[in-house]
Amino acid sequence: MTRRNFVQSSVAGAAAASAQPPAQASLPWYRRVCRWGQTNITERDPDRYDIPFWRDYWKRTRSQGVIVNAGGIVAYYPSKFPLHHRAEFLNGRDLYGELTQAAHQDGLAVLARMDCNRTAEDFYQAHPDWFARQASGQPHRAEDKYITCVNSPYYDEYIPGILREIVERSRPEGFADNSWSGLGRESICYCDNCVRKFRAAAGKPIPARKDWNDTGYRQWIQWNYQRRLEILDLFNRTTKDAGGPHCLYIGMNSGSITSQSRSFRDFAQISKRAEFMLLDHQARADESGFQQNGDTGKLVHGLLGWDKLLPESMALYQAGRPTFRLSAKPSNEARMWMIEGIAGGIQPWWHHIGAWHEDRRAYSTAEPVFRWHEEHEQYLINRQPVAGIGVVWSQRNTDYYGRDESAELVDAPYRGVTEALIRARLPYLPVNVDHIDRDAGRFSALVLPSIAALSDAQCAAVKRFIANGGGLVATGATSLYDEWGDPRPDFALADLFGAHAPSPDFGRKGATRTTAHTYLRLPGIGERHPALRGFEETDILPFGGALEAMRTDPGVSIPLTFIPAFPIYPPETSWMRVPKTDIPGLVLTTHGNSRVAYLPADIDRRFGRDNLPDHGKLLANIFRWVSADRIPLDVRGPGLIDCHLYRQPGRLVLHLVNLTNEGTWRAPLDELIAVGPLQVRVKLPDDVKGHGVQHLVSKSKPTVAVRQGWATLEVKSVLDHEVVVIS
Ligand SMILES: [Zn+2]
Repeated sequence: MTRRNFVQSSVAGAAAASAQPPAQASLPWYRRVCRWGQTNITERDPDRYDIPFWRDYWKRTRSQGVIVNAGGIVAYYPSKFPLHHRAEFLNGRDLYGELTQAAHQDGLAVLARMDCNRTAEDFYQAHPDWFARQASGQPHRAEDKYITCVNSPYYDEYIPGILREIVERSRPEGFADNSWSGLGRESICYCDNCVRKFRAAAGKPIPARKDWNDTGYRQWIQWNYQRRLEILDLFNRTTKDAGGPHCLYIGMNSGSITSQSRSFRDFAQISKRAEFMLLDHQARADESGFQQNGDTGKLVHGLLGWDKLLPESMALYQAGRPTFRLSAKPSNEARMWMIEGIAGGIQPWWHHIGAWHEDRRAYSTAEPVFRWHEEHEQYLINRQPVAGIGVVWSQRNTDYYGRDESAELVDAPYRGVTEALIRARLPYLPVNVDHIDRDAGRFSALVLPSIAALSDAQCAAVKRFIANGGGLVATGATSLYDEWGDPRPDFALADLFGAHAPSPDFGRKGATRTTAHTYLRLPGIGERHPALRGFEETDILPFGGALEAMRTDPGVSIPLTFIPAFPIYPPETSWMRVPKTDIPGLVLTTHGNSRVAYLPADIDRRFGRDNLPDHGKLLANIFRWVSADRIPLDVRGPGLIDCHLYRQPGRLVLHLVNLTNEGTWRAPLDELIAVGPLQVRVKLPDDVKGHGVQHLVSKSKPTVAVRQGWATLEVKSVLDHEVVVIS
């Protein structure tokens, strides 16, 4: 079967631009284009790119914008720059220009795709001083390509020339760049440009090696962050100059803070400059699940603002582990990643590698999701999240506390906390550490999952939150290090915790990948704290970490204590040598109306890694206790349901994503499994009366009961997701 047969009703060229209300149409593209598509062209495609087929696909998927390969590593148009490598099968064709013209005729916005961090060998031979170099003088290479240096004229002069050429030829709405930020943190460039510029900035040579304790290395890190911001500014000045004030240059960002750090992309500073952002975050990892995409949407909107758009490239090929560029991703796997993204405020963007496919199944995945998105767009953008709990994150903590172990020290505790919140259906929001004051009014409690590296000012913001009656959960090494990752003599927040650090490197040294045969002891029945609810039939909980003796302040409550390791093998030896200690695993205290929980035991990291239900339940109990049950949502019923709650003027939007399926914890998923019924209780804001309810997926209009400011309703069944709108 050819692809032309496959598309039964090709109406290529018909205007795909749907009639938009005049007010909407007058907005710049980056405020209104909500659905994107990308056929990521290979060098082989220019002589087999079927433009009518793809125009029809744009239309079927209700795409409003496309990302079209233009230049960088490979040029898809006859560039006037001789070293701008033409696609191997281009044969003088202006494929990029033809596609841009077709998209514009169909009413679509076009982002010209760049990929400007490496070149072929001829370019290297012509400009050897534009390329990144190792200390030995050898160029940094990636397979047969050469990595360009961000401090060279390649970025300052050559790429701006290419950007201007593309604007002049075809007037795209803007640019997307796949890998704009150059060499990552793992490689140090010693080219002449870097040596000269770093000396001018820092007054010293480029560090000889990675050493997080060396001031020069830290300066080099900060200098690299700064340079990426300069590049973004330069490229944006260039494209706006050439193409007008709305012609934005958008360098792609990752949904992982660890990736952002390793690429010198300062998420908060980039977001401050951005009218619009593109995420390159294409598929889930086994360890974090679909829900990580919902988290990403909320985290980035927290930086960017909820009035801006945040499309994300969503792979329709088998991305992740394993990767097969030309095979269709199982449809439900791709669909759930899209749905979680949409639930977190992300706009969908289909992504195919190559313009010609023998696995045609990928062509059926995006259309139903995109059509649903178009139909209900008004409920999916321009909304404000509602959450009881804020989970604090900090890129600086990833850099200077996490260093080379951020997956273990920073990401795993965060993941454990958010997984526990999702399982307990407690709506939460990621909150950047520098936005605690700004966002304080949204939350009844904050969670600091081993936010170890904190400045004095950031600690002061946490203290203000508590002074104003907020609750707090802090874990592990929170506040034990300053903003450079250097240890303090004690937790900066020790007074809040009612607990004092046992040793200066408590935190880093306890975070090993191994699981020790350790436990936590609960007090006798009758003296148990509400945080231990549900554990009545046990006096111990599995732990796995190590704890040291720790000084605590008078008046604190210590509902869990440490049981040191004893043998697992052989079974005859598996008995507790030391059944009880006074080493705290959990310290609870109150300050006025505020409740504070400090967890020396790294239950968050362990839950993120080991997935033991006891750890998740304990965390959820603690979150409920510090929140004093000021939580705006209660969802009961079976299954793993990720609950996202938003408000818009006069209504609430509750997005329920069903993560219960036969592949929940191991990608890819093939079959969806419906769950229900779910009993939903939600607190109504003053401007929502609860008179009307509709379900945007099942299209049903259930009944709702309102009592004392809370609405109660039933969702009969959820297959992949449901959106409940209460007005
Ligand atoms: Zn360099």
